[in-house]
Amino acid sequence: MKSESPIAICRVAVPGPLPEALDYRVPERGEPPVPGARVRVDLGRRQVVGVVTALASTSEIPRNRLRPVREVLDEASLLDDTLMALLTWAADYYHHPVGEVLNQALPVLLRQGREAQAATRSVYRLSDAGAQVDPATLTRAPRQSALLALLREAPGGLSAGELEDEPPGNWGGVLRAVVERGWVERIERALDAIDGPCPARAGPALNEAQAAAVEAVRGHFGQFAPHLLQGVTGSGKTEVYLQLIEAALAEGRQTLVLVPEIALTPQLVRRFRSRLACPVAVLHSGLGERERLDGWLAARSGAAGVIIGTRSAVFVPWARPGLIIVDEEHDGSFKQHEGFRYHARDVAVKRAHLESVPVLLGSATPSFESLANVTRGQYTRLRLRERAGGAAPPRVELLDLRRQTLDEGLSLGLMDRMQRHLEAEGQVLLFLNRRGFAPTLLCHDCGWVAECPRCDARMTWHQGDGRIRCHHCGHERNRPRHCPACGSVSLGGLGQGTERVEAALERHFPGHSVARLDRDSTRRKGALEAVLEDVRSGRHRILVGTQMLAKGHHFPDVTLVGILDADQGLFSADFRAAERMAQMMVQVAGRAGRAGRAGEVVIQTHHPDHPLLLTLVHQGYEAFAEAALAERRVAGLPPYTSLVLLRAEATGQQAPNDFLEAARRSLEALRPDSVQIWGPAPALMERRAGRYRAQLMIQSASRPALQRALRAWTPGLAQLPGARKVRWVLDVDALEM
Ligand code: ADP
Ligand code: ZN
Ligand code: ZN
Repeated sequence: MKSESPIAICRVAVPGPLPEALDYRVPERGEPPVPGARVRVDLGRRQVVGVVTALASTSEIPRNRLRPVREVLDEASLLDDTLMALLTWAADYYHHPVGEVLNQALPVLLRQGREAQAATRSVYRLSDAGAQVDPATLTRAPRQSALLALLREAPGGLSAGELEDEPPGNWGGVLRAVVERGWVERIERALDAIDGPCPARAGPALNEAQAAAVEAVRGHFGQFAPHLLQGVTGSGKTEVYLQLIEAALAEGRQTLVLVPEIALTPQLVRRFRSRLACPVAVLHSGLGERERLDGWLAARSGAAGVIIGTRSAVFVPWARPGLIIVDEEHDGSFKQHEGFRYHARDVAVKRAHLESVPVLLGSATPSFESLANVTRGQYTRLRLRERAGGAAPPRVELLDLRRQTLDEGLSLGLMDRMQRHLEAEGQVLLFLNRRGFAPTLLCHDCGWVAECPRCDARMTWHQGDGRIRCHHCGHERNRPRHCPACGSVSLGGLGQGTERVEAALERHFPGHSVARLDRDSTRRKGALEAVLEDVRSGRHRILVGTQMLAKGHHFPDVTLVGILDADQGLFSADFRAAERMAQMMVQVAGRAGRAGRAGEVVIQTHHPDHPLLLTLVHQGYEAFAEAALAERRVAGLPPYTSLVLLRAEATGQQAPNDFLEAARRSLEALRPDSVQIWGPAPALMERRAGRYRAQLMIQSASRPALQRALRAWTPGLAQLPGARKVRWVLDVDALEM
């Protein structure tokens, strides 16, 4: 008689909206799969790849109705116990189906069932003979000399593609020449196998504040310790990261560095690669699937000493947990805005807790959430008060726009200052967070405006390609020649976008090259790098751009920063608008200046007496945050309460409202303790991409009480009347209203 094996069942999280893992029979033959391994199983009529979450001896489903695991794809666990615990926690905290959460943690190729093996690739590296050559002696072959110097810094070798990223590019011919001379060899290797140590370039000696920050975090290696590193742009935060990473490497530990999407430039990666004596894995959405898998595997095996990635890298497995760093922790791009709506910074802190490692959140303009955590004593704050290298802080001034003549949003006062700075060989940077030519296309005869047929929004006129475009849903068409309402040809742009300001600047400052930096001007691959390079080299004297300016770039020769419109954030219905506006302004202002060249910042506003603006300008970001946080506390808003939105949308206006009403009643019926319910109410932009959107706001001063209520409430949502007529999603810690 066959005895019941103690492990007969495995629980498998399958992709899809199921709230829990499903039970399957383990295969009769072979070892049972381990938790964290992938298996192929039947789901309905399909076969899918799922992840084993647990093994069990019994199931609530009778054995004869259990389906078998079809195939075990991994012998070893892909996702270790701590990572599984993190993912399960995230599924619970964000009330998202565990199958989707686990699925999302895997690179696409692994989701598809591909083998968890690193690809090999060809790399070029110095031969023994090449290592003997001193590049400095090759005066007659400067490009060969440059190539040897590059390879010296990359003992693991560089692929042809990586080489092409190294300016000035076009290495093909030079490469053939040095291979022929026997100085460079081509080898095949798995990314996994790349071994250090590399001769790392030493960084500057740290100043006192930096050294104190490094010591504070280093003293907590091996234990959970959240720290906030608060320091203006250029105060040397990245140097602190680099030294901490080196300290972790010296103990054989890996570091995970999370950065906002837009900040992960080749320039940043190069800085890390040239400074660290270890392979650096890079993970972001712009990579090919194969590269992503290779980076992921290099993190998991421990081959990569550092993993730099955007949001989703917070779920990458690692072999030797050491330290987690979140740079620009205030950045909104850490929150996923669709599907599984996690916040990578918050998950990073949780992960550090589970892994028992320190976590360092860095920013010049910390989020209100993190500042509140400092006040509560949960995070330790480390400050870098001065700019590294001794640059003076910029002088900031409000420029009153009332009763001023403006030319395309530029005041005479601002243009006078620009003239002065340009004459003194300074560069000028102007910030306007609106791309396109004009945010509104208007008929001067009848008042018609071009509205998006699918959103409660106006179409933006893009003069460059003669189109009008909705920035919310992407709907676009040619700019009409005649007014569709009255037939008039007097259609004109109302208001300014970056394109229009660029044109005005070219008119006013014909002797100076103007560059524009926004999503439109940088769409082509390499365009962003090219503009930045031309600004750094000084070819462009004036730079106008959107929030792209606020991230990750430093412009040392900029002496004047102009913020064209400070008023957008002051009167928004979104309670976070002021926080975002202040962060953006401070970040942009921080791009300018260096030692011996004090910068100047001019902020154009129609509300020069606005208390928050005055506090920000005269007392700085921290005082501003204190004042704004006090308002949040009085109003009972985050971070003093936790906030969850139940969002619903449909093609009709009624359905979301009906569903949310039913949802509200079902929550009220549970009589949850210390939980407030608001709404349903229309979203700030009610119609978007052809769908009406509404939301129910659930708030509580007690996170545990809120979680209890959500746990009791959410499983029944799908069965509510009207649930199938809408698309709905729960947004925990929602950032956008
Ligand atoms: P942040 O990350 O805060 O913007 P960085 O670490 O990038 O600042 O430093 C800004 C500039 O100052 C960089 O060029 C960096 O090399 C330099 N720097 C940083 N720390 C020091 C230091 N202790 N001594 C001299 N230069 C430094
Ligand atoms: Zn008209
Ligand atoms: Zn639209």
